[in-house]
Amino acid sequence: MKKNFLNDLHFKQEVYVLEDYQPFEGLDFLEKYHFNSFLPPSRLDSYLPLSNRQTSANFWKKNLEEEFILDENFHRDLLYHALETSLENWANYKQIPTKEFMAILKKQQEIENNSNQMIEDEGYYKMKVNSPFNEQLFFGVTPEAMENIEKTYSLQDAHSLYTELAKLEVFDFRSLYRFSKHFGMPYGIMDDNGFDLYLDGDTLFFPFCSIAVLNKKIAIYKRDFEWFKIIQTKNVSKIRSLLYNTDAQDNLSDDDVIDQAKEHITSLLSRLDAFNVSMYVDYQDGSFVPGVWFSDLFNFAYFQLAKALSNNIEVRECDYCGHIFEVTHKRQRFCPPLPNRKRSSCEMAYNNRLKKEKK
Ligand SMILES: [Zn+2]
Repeated sequence: MKKNFLNDLHFKQEVYVLEDYQPFEGLDFLEKYHFNSFLPPSRLDSYLPLSNRQTSANFWKKNLEEEFILDENFHRDLLYHALETSLENWANYKQIPTKEFMAILKKQQEIENNSNQMIEDEGYYKMKVNSPFNEQLFFGVTPEAMENIEKTYSLQDAHSLYTELAKLEVFDFRSLYRFSKHFGMPYGIMDDNGFDLYLDGDTLFFPFCSIAVLNKKIAIYKRDFEWFKIIQTKNVSKIRSLLYNTDAQDNLSDDDVIDQAKEHITSLLSRLDAFNVSMYVDYQDGSFVPGVWFSDLFNFAYFQLAKALSNNIEVRECDYCGHIFEVTHKRQRFCPPLPNRKRSSCEMAYNNRLKKEKK
């Protein structure tokens, strides 16, 4: 392996995983939670008579309402950086033809572009609130599951997070549910308000998020990952079809085409928000070691993606699900096991299918 500082960086964050998540329509669902249930009843009665629970519910309501509004360049990012199939999924969800959907998105982007993006500005605020992309749909932990936050995993062990994250589909709750159950929600509002835990820089915890903002991140990540995939699998014909509209570039050699694809993914990854990490130093066994903190799982996935690109790792298509995974041993045919699991769930599902077919 060539020298690469990404391989030497330490990261020690743990991620809290909740047992169960679900989508919620509107924000009234927050009334159902037993926020601050960890406080002894006597304390609740004597010190916090003014419904401490309600305070937490209001905190989450306010923050979830504002999440979309505070997300800068939402329409521009979605218009220019999303994978095409993700936009089609979004249009399907809205039950409008893709062409019409794109026209609305373009119009919103123009208004956004001509605004100052200041939340204090009434015009901008109104545009954001009334945007057809401001979905009143949220994703989060169920009231029952919030009482039980014991499962964690370490990012250091989550080698396949970036390939698993690419399996998410826009407005496909089954894929989101599956990912979150194993890795925790990939992104959201990080706060412990009302929960029985204490957050510090070493832990990641996302109980709730806005579906619109999350889906935008998925759509962009999937596009970036698609480029990673076609580069690592040397899918030259696909790259040619994406990079060049005409046959005029037919004289370029395959190596040149891959080279241009690498330039292209570099420009895609140069977005400021892709690698939003903070640094720290640890003192271990007599020497200082540099480390980084990630702000969410997309951040971490981009870090893994950059690392995989610069180490030029081998990828392979899984025999069960067809997605690509990072090859860590020669005879590997399936996606690797998920956190806290010993065996590959793709391998087990594949074997089960074989057994059924034999019957
Ligand atoms: Zn698989």
